[in-house]
Amino acid sequence: MATTDLDSPAVGVTEFTAESPVEDRYGPPLSGELAELERVLASGRLSGGAAVVADYERALAGWFGVTRAIAVSSGSSALHAALVAAGVKPGDEVLLPATAPLPTAMPILTCGAIPVIVDVVPVGLAMDPADVAAKVTGRTAAAVSLPLWGYPADDRPAKEVLDAAEIPLIEDACQAHGTRVDGRYAGTLGTAGCFSTHERKLLATGEGGFVLTNDEEFGERFDFYTHLGHLRGGHGVNYKLAAPLAAIGRRRVDGLEAQLRARAANAARLRNVLVAGGPLIELPVGADDSPNYYTFVLRAARSAGEIAAAFTDAGLAPDSVRFGYRPLYHRPLFAPYATDCPNAEALAATTLQLPVHPGLSPRELEWIADRIARFARGMGSR
Ligand SMILES: *Cc1c(COP(=O)(O)O)cnc(C)c1O
Repeated sequence: MATTDLDSPAVGVTEFTAESPVEDRYGPPLSGELAELERVLASGRLSGGAAVVADYERALAGWFGVTRAIAVSSGSSALHAALVAAGVKPGDEVLLPATAPLPTAMPILTCGAIPVIVDVVPVGLAMDPADVAAKVTGRTAAAVSLPLWGYPADDRPAKEVLDAAEIPLIEDACQAHGTRVDGRYAGTLGTAGCFSTHERKLLATGEGGFVLTNDEEFGERFDFYTHLGHLRGGHGVNYKLAAPLAAIGRRRVDGLEAQLRARAANAARLRNVLVAGGPLIELPVGADDSPNYYTFVLRAARSAGEIAAAFTDAGLAPDSVRFGYRPLYHRPLFAPYATDCPNAEALAATTLQLPVHPGLSPRELEWIADRIARFARGMGSR
């Protein structure tokens, strides 16, 4: 691999700027998708009932080690249908962490249910089990947990509280394909895991999503609801994934493992420039947990504002700036559900996310590492 001398950039090589930014979007190289698409088009079976959709679902279930995967039209439809299949009815309450972005929370409103926002633990993305216990009521029908940015959310303590009250846990693992908690994949810890295959996600089909479950009855209810009630008279919606998108997904599942390795290697390169005891650390994860490195997340000792602004000015807006991450109740739509969440506030104020996708050139990666290094050395007390 080529090395880059940062102090004396090659003559004629432009700096990355807001006009020629580091590409934060990743499209994997083609690996048989076109042949798969040709087969599907030639078959004339383009709907969600085509055999390739079932093939894709089997491949997903196999990769994640669950009994059932059901493909749907988006991560949002996976979340909505999972809540319905979990028994959430209008007027019910659904717990979710304050770190939830709008797409995690909106499906709760789609159900006509009431979001009940809980704080996260002081370190990490897991729901605070004490706050969960305090906010469970007789109307709580489900909880949605969130391994945000591809980082693990160890929700086992919260799940104990939920299990005791017989409340199902739905994971919004839309950013967390391949993230592990205690060795187990995010999205396989509760009743169901919801995933997106939007173009920005690790497994990308354009639009699309899927649910994972080991609960046979839940799987049947989810399938029934998302497939028009199997046209047997029960109420359902049409959330089926179209065959051409399943064909793309079927090929790309096979590339997930290599992608995870490449992302972890890039993350290791960035981690390498952090200074022990310095003002910047990687967002901490448990000893048996591993991110999928959807993004690389830095946590600053006080505020991440200065370093996020420096990256933005230099042409690489962190997701915190691009998507305006902040606790959910700061959004007007969810302001009526505001509650005190100091840990989520601190997390939003101190973190920033940077790309480590496999499409980064060595020069782009070194550019990011160099900028982190300036802050890892330059801020703080020394
Ligand atoms: C992308 C995403 C969604 C929504 O997925 P779509 O496929 O875009 O509907 C939901 N939650 C999270 C955390 C996401 O990142």
